[in-house]
Amino acid sequence: MINFHHSWPYERVRNDIYFEECPFCHTSSVLIPMKKEAIKGAFEGIKTHIIMPCCREKIVVESMDSDYVWATKPLR
Ligand SMILES: [Zn+2]
Repeated sequence: MINFHHSWPYERVRNDIYFEECPFCHTSSVLIPMKKEAIKGAFEGIKTHIIMPCCREKIVVESMDSDYVWATKPLR
C-alpha cells in the first residue's frame, strides 16, 4: 500500500527534476537523471526507476504527481 512515507518532493526546472535533498545520503539539490519519456510515463502510472547520482541508491518509482515522486518502498 502506497502512503505518504513512500513519497518524496521534487522541484521541476524546465525539463529537469531536482530533489532538494536526497532521501538516502542527504546531499542537497540533486539533479535526478530521468528522461522526459520516463517522467511522462510516471505521471501515467508506468513504473520506472531512478539511480541517485550522489549515492547510487535506487528508487523504484510507482508514479509521479506534480509535487511528489511515489516509490514502491518507504523513503521516509
Ligand atoms: Zn544520495
